Amino acid sequence: MRNGNLVPLHKEPVVIVGGGVAGLALARTLMDGAVPFVLIERRQMPADGGLALNLPGNAIQALAALGLREQIEAIGHPLRRREYRTARDKLLFEVDEDAFWGPALRPRSIRRSALVAALTEGVSRDLLRYDADVRSLEFHPTQPKVRLQDGTMLGASLIVGADGVRSTVRRELFGRRTGRGHALLADASWRFMAPNPGIDCWTVWAGADCMILLMPVADDEVYGWAAITTPNPISKSPCALLELRSEFPRRVRDTILHAVSRPDGLYHSPLEEVRLDHWHNQRVVLIGDAAHATAPVWAEGVALALEDAIVLGRTLSKASDIPAALVEFEARRRSRVAHVQAKTDAMSKAAKLPPFVRNMLLPFLGPKNYRQTYGPLKEPV
Ligand SMILES: Cc1cc2nc3c(=O)[nH]c(=O)nc-3n(C[C@H](O)[C@H](O)[C@H](O)COP(=O)(O)OP(=O)(O)OC[C@H]3O[C@@H](n4cnc5c(N)ncnc54)[C@H](O)[C@@H]3O)c2cc1C
Repeated sequence: MRNGNLVPLHKEPVVIVGGGVAGLALARTLMDGAVPFVLIERRQMPADGGLALNLPGNAIQALAALGLREQIEAIGHPLRRREYRTARDKLLFEVDEDAFWGPALRPRSIRRSALVAALTEGVSRDLLRYDADVRSLEFHPTQPKVRLQDGTMLGASLIVGADGVRSTVRRELFGRRTGRGHALLADASWRFMAPNPGIDCWTVWAGADCMILLMPVADDEVYGWAAITTPNPISKSPCALLELRSEFPRRVRDTILHAVSRPDGLYHSPLEEVRLDHWHNQRVVLIGDAAHATAPVWAEGVALALEDAIVLGRTLSKASDIPAALVEFEARRRSRVAHVQAKTDAMSKAAKLPPFVRNMLLPFLGPKNYRQTYGPLKEPV
């Protein structure tokens, strides 16, 4: 009997809803057994599709804290530089990421499936339940429950909503009306993999109506993200990219043509944001995208999800009272997340300027924004 309600702290397990980055990282943090848990994932398989992610230095730092430094160095492709270019290939500014982060925190690109596999490594398979979809919650001050698709009810000492941007746990906790709780920022954007047309660093090209990012994941393969950036595009079909790409350099045009001509490998990726005043209530808490999905301007989604999991795991492992632990967790995470959100807003605003103004300002604002965004994130959580 450790808490004020005279209920054993973990009479029931912590139920983690979602086996993506945040859920699996929390499972890793708790796998020493001090806090019992079970993870519920709606997918049938542990690994996600083949698309890739950019991991900035603080994501590398969090993965090292989760015991995965060697794995990430082995499977991640080093990203030593970033380049921001106009549609006509003029270099607006570049960042020497190697010099900024140093070799220990060198940013990397990684296939999402490889990251999920690395996070899963070492976590007992008995604690991971796949093909289980949480449909609703039953609230209770000491013993909340989740209801699965087959009607099964699972009791929990704590429910952790790590179920992504369209979180069921968030909807159950705060309802659908949550102010800026869940906003769609851009609908017309797609992700894909393609043969590497000779790109050796993270490179973005921004035109008047379209933005294209290419990032090597191997010497012979790039990950791409292409978005139509006009507020109300006439067409939201990926084929519209073919017309818009005419101003872009040859290697970018060829890559877009390759992607659009293989629709099975083209993933529609709407950009959605979540901004909430609270991330927890009683014995239910949100982490990762479920709590604070942020437009991927600074590629901080995975890093923040990993850091949330580390901080929540550590806080729970030494807690004598779960509601108090959640207050502490949220207090420790708020300012870092708010910093990323503010920097995302600033860069999104700059990206929406008329191209000629943007192209004049970015050489000065870009490197400064990079340093101001990532500088404070070098501090470990
Ligand atoms: C276009 C785009 C590009 C991006 N690029 C980057 C990048 O380069 N770098 C980066 O760091 N981030 C990037 N992100 C963001 C990043 O993908 C997310 O921030 C990250 O995946 C969040 O992890 P998560 O675990 O919170 O959510 P998710 O990875 O979405 O995981 C949620 C899990 O919960 C499961 N689930 C959902 N509902 C239920 C339910 N009811 N019951 C059971 N299981 C459920 C899902 O199946 C899923 O496995 C990008 C996002 C977008 C849209």
